[in-house]
Amino acid sequence: MLIEDLHTHTRYSHGLGTVEQNVRAALLAGLKRIGIAEHGPKHLFFPVKWGALKRLRAEVDLMNSKYSGRIEVLMGLEANLLGDGLTDVPSDTSLFDYILLGYHKGTAPADKLSRSWARHLLFRQADKYGSSNAKAYEKAMEATPKLLAITHPGTYIPVDIELLAKAASEHSVALEINNSHRSLTKGALIKAKSQGAKFLLSSDAHSPSRVGNVLNALELAKDAGVLEQVINWAY
Ligand SMILES: [Zn+2]
Ligand SMILES: [Zn+2]
Repeated sequence: MLIEDLHTHTRYSHGLGTVEQNVRAALLAGLKRIGIAEHGPKHLFFPVKWGALKRLRAEVDLMNSKYSGRIEVLMGLEANLLGDGLTDVPSDTSLFDYILLGYHKGTAPADKLSRSWARHLLFRQADKYGSSNAKAYEKAMEATPKLLAITHPGTYIPVDIELLAKAASEHSVALEINNSHRSLTKGALIKAKSQGAKFLLSSDAHSPSRVGNVLNALELAKDAGVLEQVINWAY
């Protein structure tokens, strides 16, 4: 069974529901823990506002008191990879229980490598950068405290999955199997497992009704034979 869904969004970025609606949906889904991980502050269209982070923390704390003994509520962040090791993770991460990190469309290129990503999105020219991109993630892993997982690896930009998986394994960072962005293939998961990777199943819910729904991700994990490497699944 799924223990926790740590990648959900609310109105604090571009989800549809409130924190409490996500929490109640997680309770209905039988989860022990739910995480709210809003888009990082440098997303151009759907950022969590800096000023809202303290309010979100207070709301998460309130939920923990209200639903104490029934479910645990965590506050994360889905930070943006902005370039070669560059992210929008705040220098002070004390508000967060954990950090997720992924590349997203809608972030401004910050260096030569990320300009290649922007070109790739328009003209598909960055396939050759798969290993550079894996190294960019690795540098970001080294620089990011509380980093739990890389979200939807391979979505929007190519990444050498074996290099990424090796680095993730060395830094105790999981690779997400995202229920909505289905960029990882069975073959990629098998390669990642061979490099010692661990995985995180997530809904990436943008509405409460999708919280805890990891059916696609679960099917893929089973098909690839990596369920034992999933950190938020219990038999
Ligand atoms: Zn994302
Ligand atoms: Zn997300």
